[in-house]
Amino acid sequence: MLNRKVLVLNQNYEPLSICSAKRALVMVFLGKAEVVEEAGTVHTVSRALPLPSVVRLWMYVHKPRNDIPLTKRNILRRDGHRCQYCGTTQGPMTVDHVIPKDMGGKDTWENLVCCCVRCNNRKGNRTPEQAGMRLIRPPKRPNFLYFVHTFVGEPDPSWKPYLFMD
Ligand SMILES: [Zn+2]
Repeated sequence: MLNRKVLVLNQNYEPLSICSAKRALVMVFLGKAEVVEEAGTVHTVSRALPLPSVVRLWMYVHKPRNDIPLTKRNILRRDGHRCQYCGTTQGPMTVDHVIPKDMGGKDTWENLVCCCVRCNNRKGNRTPEQAGMRLIRPPKRPNFLYFVHTFVGEPDPSWKPYLFMD
């Protein structure tokens, strides 16, 4: 029960991270956080404590909200292993720079997409416009909800009011 996942909100109720119930209880004990939503009760030897499902920090934390590392694996995950040009999910996938590096394209969430080998060869060192190809959707930095789905799975129902703030 102490290993269940707890949503951590920043002081302004924005979702910040996810931690174990154990860690959340420690933060509450230390006076760093308050329990916003309860998932039940934990019985210790001497008393019963609320088992948090959402906690909120008392102090505002200045921190990039979701530090999902920009890696090939995470780009492919974000795009569901679907080629962002032709839509196939078959065959080996690679990462394409939408604006090629030679033209100043950067290594960013907004400039990298999952791409099948065929489309990658077809596009070559050109922009999508130059190659006459279209992206299925514009690539974006993954939001917190994506982070939850990818790394935690289905969010706890009690988290939902706090996850749609974007
Ligand atoms: Zn393709």
